[in-house]
Amino acid sequence: MKNEILDVIIIGGGPAGFTSGIYTSREKLNTLLLEKSMCGGLPAITDLIENYPGFPEGISGMELVSRFRRQAEKFGVNIREYEGVQSIIPGDGVIRVRTENGEYITRTVIIATGGLPRKINVPGETEYIGKGVSYCATCDGPFYRDAEIAVIGGGDAAIQEAIFLTKFARKVTVIHRRDKLRASPILQQRAFANEKIDFLWDSVPVEIAGEELVKSITVKNVKTGQFDALNVEGVFIFIGWNPNTGFVRDLLKLDEAGHIITDTYLRTNIEGIFAVGDVRSKKFRQIAEACGDATVGALAASEYISDLN
Ligand code: NAP
Repeated sequence: MKNEILDVIIIGGGPAGFTSGIYTSREKLNTLLLEKSMCGGLPAITDLIENYPGFPEGISGMELVSRFRRQAEKFGVNIREYEGVQSIIPGDGVIRVRTENGEYITRTVIIATGGLPRKINVPGETEYIGKGVSYCATCDGPFYRDAEIAVIGGGDAAIQEAIFLTKFARKVTVIHRRDKLRASPILQQRAFANEKIDFLWDSVPVEIAGEELVKSITVKNVKTGQFDALNVEGVFIFIGWNPNTGFVRDLLKLDEAGHIITDTYLRTNIEGIFAVGDVRSKKFRQIAEACGDATVGALAASEYISDLN
């Protein structure tokens, strides 16, 4: 496989990567999907997805992405997990993709690498990862039965996961740096109606402390300057994501936050390289939207290949 020239290499095994793969493989393009860890992306760690069309009762994130994967494999996408891409080198009418295991040659690349959870960067955060600090409610929520926990953030992820965590925790305090949530109105409404959820407004975390496990979080009120300590056993952090673009930092045009800049057809500044989904510079980030992106990127890649021939 490594000596042949592939049509498409998709980097990233989340909804965008799989959707691009469904399209390129149905276009009969020889498609390889590389994923640096386990496939699934952000939805795989999301308890319930209620806004992906076609599932009126909602669907678990894991189930949804495993369906995406089955569909991509059915049409012939070759999926390789635990093979991270280190660099992309265009030249001589082809693109070389270097991974931990070697080099592939392809006509096009579709980057669908999404992002990694942002850190709050306060003392105790890194030290207590896995000992009370978490970025994944579905993974770690069940460890906090009857506990008091804090959720940091005010976006869709923070509020959706705070609601989910009330299945286990006795009390969930949402700590948000402003006095208004960013989350969608339906999630806000549910959170405000949930008796187990409290809000600490205008507050930012300054330290997470404990012994072997987390015991407290100290927050500062940004309006009054007052410090407060909350006794909590868990701190769940959902303050957004940083794009996974380190491997193309010197190759592609990125915006200030590191997202890849594309045109309407999801083309980057380098011919034959496309970017789709959350990794791309844009305003909204939703699964349905990532799939739409991925469709456009895949069809644009297919057209690009036809024009080469
Ligand atoms: P997000 O929408 O960027 O929200 C991040 C939240 O964290 C904001 O409330 C932000 O505060 C706060 N924040 C950022 N940096 C902070 C810091 N250093 N300290 C304290 N707080 C900080 O991120 P997200 O919730 O992970 O969502 C990412 C994307 O996925 C969004 O487009 C979202 O709509 C989408 N998503 C959708 C769903 C859904 O539809 N159910 C679920 C999950 C995610 P400010 O509000 O003050 O900026």
